[in-house]
Amino acid sequence: PDPAFLALAPSLEAGAPFWDAVAAAEFPKHVLRYRNQRWAEKIGLGDLSEAEWIDHFGRFRPLPDNIPRPLALRYHGHQFRVYNPDIGDGRGFLFAQLRDDQGRLLDLGTKGSGQTPYSRFGDGRLTLKGGVRELLATEMLEALGVYTSKTFSLIETGEALERQDEPSPTRSSVLVRLSHSHVRFGTFQRLAFERDADAIGALVDYCVRAFDPDLSGLGAKEKTAAFYGRVVRRTARLVAEWLAAGFVHGVLNTDNMNVAGESFDYGPWRFAPVADPGFTAAYFDQTGLYAFGRQTEAAAWNLSRFGGTLAPVADLDALNEALSGFTQAHENALADAFFRRLGLERSGTDDIELVVALLRWMETTRVPYERVFFDWFCGRASEGRAETSPLAPRYREEAFAETRALLLAAEPDRPERLAHPYFARPEPCTMLIDEVEAIWAPIAENDDWSALHAKLDAIAEMRRAYGFDASDYAGRV
Ligand code: AMP
Ligand code: MG
Ligand code: MG
Repeated sequence: PDPAFLALAPSLEAGAPFWDAVAAAEFPKHVLRYRNQRWAEKIGLGDLSEAEWIDHFGRFRPLPDNIPRPLALRYHGHQFRVYNPDIGDGRGFLFAQLRDDQGRLLDLGTKGSGQTPYSRFGDGRLTLKGGVRELLATEMLEALGVYTSKTFSLIETGEALERQDEPSPTRSSVLVRLSHSHVRFGTFQRLAFERDADAIGALVDYCVRAFDPDLSGLGAKEKTAAFYGRVVRRTARLVAEWLAAGFVHGVLNTDNMNVAGESFDYGPWRFAPVADPGFTAAYFDQTGLYAFGRQTEAAAWNLSRFGGTLAPVADLDALNEALSGFTQAHENALADAFFRRLGLERSGTDDIELVVALLRWMETTRVPYERVFFDWFCGRASEGRAETSPLAPRYREEAFAETRALLLAAEPDRPERLAHPYFARPEPCTMLIDEVEAIWAPIAENDDWSALHAKLDAIAEMRRAYGFDASDYAGRV
């Protein structure tokens, strides 16, 4: 049945209302800068030679028996709460669909692959710095247990780009992203805008087949509401994972959220140095709409817009009922995500008390975010380690007593993981903005990639230490 997405339209040329068949840009050169070999092996592409890799992921020669021409996907979206019907894949396309070693459907999508009917005034390109930033975000988030798209390939393409927020000219790249879905909330918004109820129904069917096949037996209306309930829960979980990672996505527009509840599209993201609810990533987010502590609210608002698009094919009460499950799902997911990051086993609904106490303490004291998780991984098994942390004096303060008691009361999850050399490092691995700039500077100045490679090695060590690797797909309903 692959590539599954093609089944939505009778032919490639008749892709409306879902896509436009397009052609990739021709680039003056191709220098492979990053190849995600670990994920290439999971999807059966591990054996490609470097020349074949560049042919497919730099020149976009179709993969055998796959999508024969790139598809620029159509979508609309609320950007900073303002509806924009003029967007869509303006510098990317769906290139291929594959299945991984567990049978999961995966999209290979691009960023920076050239202009499309949706480019508006844009050049269709991605800066090399933007590509490096997306790579760093995805590697770091995967290592911290966040359900994220992967950076599959990054190729430098030899063009000189003009950008307002970077010294010009700046170098160009093309990125291939591996993700579970490019069906965005905004994809449904566009179909609702066009009043195309048939297409909405067809897209729900596609999504259910791809992501929630256990719902396929339901009647159309029930299926749609149940699918929406799944998206509500997955999105609630994703935001919880961002918060536990200290991550600020930066641009939580409805076109940057998808129905798989998978994090993707990394532009002006930042990790928060401390637990500051007002910490904002994007310089253009002047009101702090997408600040660290407002990501939950942003996701809920986006979900309500998405739910509205399903009204023509579902029962409104059932949709509202599904949306009302968000808060409870988010609270439960917060406990899951924080307990996972703290290396603790969940015990019950009271678990949220630890999350609340810890976050409140971290907000008041403004201690380094990542350090706390590093110091207390596996709770009481780390009591001695925490004594040797630079934060040890703070951990002895009365203000920490409640959090400490809750940490010590929780059951450590596989404390033998603390034997990993990662936990003997003096500092946890972090990805604060100064570090990102320090990785980029030697690339820009001397084409020196060693700082990037050292960082990718450190992230990989952290990923193995926490063991989030295998948990990528588990329990995502
Ligand atoms: P984003 O804010 O990155 O999610 O992008 C919002 C919209 O702008 C999408 O339709 C993108 O395809 C489009 N876009 C962003 N950068 C460019 C570019 N350099 N050229 C063409 N379209 C772009
Ligand atoms: Mg986007
Ligand atoms: Mg973007």
